[in-house]
Amino acid sequence: MSSAQTAQRQGRRKGPRPKHIPQRMCVSCRERSAKRTLTRIVRTPEGRVEIDPTGRMNGRGAYLCDDPECWERALRSQALSRALKVEIDPETINRLRAYAATLPPVSRSSPEGASQEGSEA
Ligand SMILES: [Zn+2]
Repeated sequence: MSSAQTAQRQGRRKGPRPKHIPQRMCVSCRERSAKRTLTRIVRTPEGRVEIDPTGRMNGRGAYLCDDPECWERALRSQALSRALKVEIDPETINRLRAYAATLPPVSRSSPEGASQEGSEA
């Protein structure tokens, strides 16, 4: 019974180093958080703006929190457009809004859970 193979040898001589968690900044609220709580938007080399859930697409990227409010604000304030250095056409904006609408509501760390804002049409 020898299962010591799982221990990887490489990198050992550098000693233990703290695991680096990449932090990204939301272009809307400018809050930093670990990458996985943000969604990457990318401007492709063709100049299209695409949602990039895997974070691997080619092009200039910008990040938004997984919070529909951040998306809406970024679209309205042109923050996303500025970050990507591209004009975002209405069709793309609609697509981004549609995507934001599918994001699960973010539970803010406030004790009161139910919001009473009935502004839904
Ligand atoms: Zn944000």
